[in-house]
Amino acid sequence: MSVSPEAHLSAITETVEARSYNEPEFLQAVHEVLETLTPVLSEHPEFVEANVLERLVEPERQIIFRVPWLDDQNHVRVNRGFRVQFNSALGPYKGGLRFHPSVNLSVIKFLGFEQIFKNALTRQRIGGGKGGSDFDPRGKSDAEVMRFCQSFMSELFRHIDEHTDVPAGDIGVGGREIGFLFGQYRRLTGRHESGVLTGKGKGWGGAEVRTEATGYGAVFFAQEMLARTGEGIEGREAIVSGSGNVAIYAIEKVEQLGGKAITASDSSGYVVDEQGIDVELLKQIKEVERGRISEYADRRPSARFVSGGSVWDVPGELAFPCATQNELDEAGARALLGGGVRAVAEGANMPTTPEAVALLQQAGVLFGPGKAANAGGVATSALEMTQNAARDRWDFDQSELRLHRIMRDVHDATYAASERYGRPGDYVLGANSAGFVTVAQAMIDQGVV
Ligand code: NDP
Repeated sequence: MSVSPEAHLSAITETVEARSYNEPEFLQAVHEVLETLTPVLSEHPEFVEANVLERLVEPERQIIFRVPWLDDQNHVRVNRGFRVQFNSALGPYKGGLRFHPSVNLSVIKFLGFEQIFKNALTRQRIGGGKGGSDFDPRGKSDAEVMRFCQSFMSELFRHIDEHTDVPAGDIGVGGREIGFLFGQYRRLTGRHESGVLTGKGKGWGGAEVRTEATGYGAVFFAQEMLARTGEGIEGREAIVSGSGNVAIYAIEKVEQLGGKAITASDSSGYVVDEQGIDVELLKQIKEVERGRISEYADRRPSARFVSGGSVWDVPGELAFPCATQNELDEAGARALLGGGVRAVAEGANMPTTPEAVALLQQAGVLFGPGKAANAGGVATSALEMTQNAARDRWDFDQSELRLHRIMRDVHDATYAASERYGRPGDYVLGANSAGFVTVAQAMIDQGVV
């Protein structure tokens, strides 16, 4: 019995809504993908026949665990840890760990679901997964962060290894946390298994350009979108949100390509610097001192700090949301349009709400969704795995060249899929459909597992 793509998609939507009714972020991510897949299913009735989608929306495995640790006053604290191993049809589960108080199963599932398609787009043979904890590293001492990471890994180590699941960083998990996690893994297993985590220190298996990769990659993606229409980054002002790993290196690359990034933000507010953000000062405050964004304005005469408010109120032709999910809503999109925005590339995961995406696309703004635009981070993680497996080490230039090529390929594959499925330049449709076809084909080849 053949079922129409529309009927199949609405049946899957009903199933996932019933099963995950209390997971709003996950449902948002699933809706966003399913809404674009009708033309793909029309072209590939075998995907409907094999019920690929119902399998795809259900994680292969979800692990939830207690993380007890001692704070500096010797009080016992308890957090919740997660690892969602979503889909391994293309390779070992791959995706970051997020430590932030907002983390819950819905957030981890949305991130893991998006990761499947993103990883497929990189063509690096990696499956999709994500993990983390509701632990907040802000305001904790290094010793507290270390004890937390050790306790977290004391459970996680049972479920990961270089062939099974390879976590990396995300919000709240940078080089310091990866170091503590790796140390505990090594101690528990008695093995120096470089390939089990990515984002490692460069002296012990970390890849060049991994730190820069997500931010640089998002700017490369914007550059490719603009190049298609004969435009560029040079001479244009960029509005960047966030001031963490992704934001810092997006700002750096915009400046290297002759643009001017004039904002950065954190959860307390944003700074505007008409001279262009001084990226070395930003790194000092955020990466070294772990300070707040307001301190940037305290130390830079050309900058002002705006407490609260919306960074999208600042006019600029390029926008890079690089903080967190749903940070760019309808009001933000209207403000950006009022400020003359030409291109938006998502450095963060799902930072733009569906209503805001629709507004931007209807206005003809080039819009690069995170699945494609921020794929440079995970792609470079896969390159780190390659180097670890070969006991090799590439230099910075070679690594950046590979990243640049991968982002060009991700752009081209995404654009080609948008053309194939009838809406040239709709990169949301393109990223979802190109990623989905790759994974669905692998799932069919591998049978009902
Ligand atoms: P970081 O922890 O390094 O930085 C996060 C930044 O976003 C901080 O400046 C933080 O400010 C800010 N932020 C977080 N929540 C909010 C909020 N509710 N409102 C305003 N600002 C907020 O994380 P990353 O830079 O690594 O990650 C940023 C985004 O990029 C995430 O969506 C992540 O999933 C995505 N991403 C990251 C990759 C990577 O390689 N790191 C790869 C692909 C995607 P504050 O300090 O005040 O919390």
